[in-house]
Amino acid sequence: MTVEKIEIDTLVVGAGQAGVAMSEHLSNHGVPHLVLERHRIAERWRSERWDSLVANGPAWHDRFPGLEFEDIDPDAFAPKERIADYFEAYAKKFDAPIRTGVDVKKVERNVGRPGFTIETSEGVIEANRVVAATGPFQRPVIPPIAPEDEKITQLHSSEYRNPEQLPEGAVMVVGAGSSGVQIADELQRAGKKVYLSVGPHDRPPRAYRNRDFCWWLGVLGKWDAEAMKPGTEHVTIAVSGAHGGQTVDFRGLANQGITLVGRTKAFDDGLVTFESDLADNLARGDENYLSLLDAADAYIARNGLDLPEEPEARHILPDPECVTHPILELDLAEAGVTSIVWATGFAVDYSWLNVNAFDENGKPRHQRGVSSEPGIYFVGLPWLSRRGSSFIWGVWHDAKHIADHIATQRKYLAYHDASRRRAEEADRNDRPDGVRPYSHVQNVNTVRIS
Ligand SMILES: Cc1cc2nc3c(=O)[nH]c(=O)nc-3n(C[C@H](O)[C@H](O)[C@H](O)COP(=O)(O)OP(=O)(O)OC[C@H]3O[C@@H](n4cnc5c(N)ncnc54)[C@H](O)[C@@H]3O)c2cc1C
Repeated sequence: MTVEKIEIDTLVVGAGQAGVAMSEHLSNHGVPHLVLERHRIAERWRSERWDSLVANGPAWHDRFPGLEFEDIDPDAFAPKERIADYFEAYAKKFDAPIRTGVDVKKVERNVGRPGFTIETSEGVIEANRVVAATGPFQRPVIPPIAPEDEKITQLHSSEYRNPEQLPEGAVMVVGAGSSGVQIADELQRAGKKVYLSVGPHDRPPRAYRNRDFCWWLGVLGKWDAEAMKPGTEHVTIAVSGAHGGQTVDFRGLANQGITLVGRTKAFDDGLVTFESDLADNLARGDENYLSLLDAADAYIARNGLDLPEEPEARHILPDPECVTHPILELDLAEAGVTSIVWATGFAVDYSWLNVNAFDENGKPRHQRGVSSEPGIYFVGLPWLSRRGSSFIWGVWHDAKHIADHIATQRKYLAYHDASRRRAEEADRNDRPDGVRPYSHVQNVNTVRIS
């Protein structure tokens, strides 16, 4: 794209699922907009996730309302490439104005006039509004405890692709959310000795009484929870669609051959130490698991639903040796550990967004995505409006709210007082064709800020 100087009403940065959803809702409102994506549509699903990854939710659930996955059983879990293809197809469906290969480098509020000036890798853009749809998981986070040991291969889960990528020897996976457990499982199945460092987690049943947990979270109103329970900020969620979708069961993983350890505390001279919290973390996970079964049973009873009983779901496996006698320190060389996979999450990166929309900790300051800097919006962030906000189905609803807000703001700005209306009327009457001097034009290259 060669951009001379584009003027557009709304600029959306990022064309993952959030950017695509934004574009659909803005199109429905007739808002002239442009989406800029530095790579390809839904790039992260293509190149920042491991090869065997499938969606954590079934295909009937993890999608936008306007399109089903083609050739995928609704109860199956779409492979990551199919998810990326899905968003590409979705964008085509409504001819989304997406330009790929354009990096947004800087956004600044104009001084003494409305709107923002945006520097991109292809030129300058002027926009009245900017929607940051750059993702909830942008910058891989590796905690500062990581050892500076060149003999050990270390990578973040976003760089992990498959077991062949790692050197011979045992591997330590730090973090047991959805990524950590799936990667540890894959490595162990590939014949590697695996240590999995497990922190506090929720582990919902994959399915219970013939319904997937996505369904249960929906009918029980849990996807709509507006804020995390206080004290659960560091609790990760362990779910998986791998192998047709199975409940994450840490004791089962231990029986399979994975050595569980508590939270990783420190590395010192080849020695790694762990917190003594493994049993507590598992107990907390069980509590969360059982509480969902209880809520599901109560829902079934209250509504008189005919769903098959599943008493065996309440059976918890006995604690394996690594839980009853936890390892609190490990000599990496003695244990043959040659690599560490850090499944320790992500942070956001808004270094390009130079506006007054962040709190003193650098966190976006917003209400349901409408930021404290008029004209700046965020979409796709965890808990933007509710628990579902960073997930495929949830972001679509948040994007709708933001597009509604933008459309409403445009109506305020389009308000003309009586004297202006009279002047316009006179102007129209003077023109033989009755054409208004300023009309909304959709084509971005000819758009004036309207
Ligand atoms: C391992 C993993 C598995 C997941 N599985 C599921 C799942 O099964 N179901 C589910 O609902 N959710 C899942 N999620 C959560 C969520 O759906 C994804 O993280 C999803 O990618 C978020 O989409 P997004 O559009 O908000 O952000 P992203 O996919 O991160 O898209 C943002 C886009 O912005 C672009 N960009 C960033 N900065 C700039 C810039 N300055 N200029 C131009 N472009 C820029 C990026 O290239 C990127 O393409 C998963 C997340 C992870 C990490």
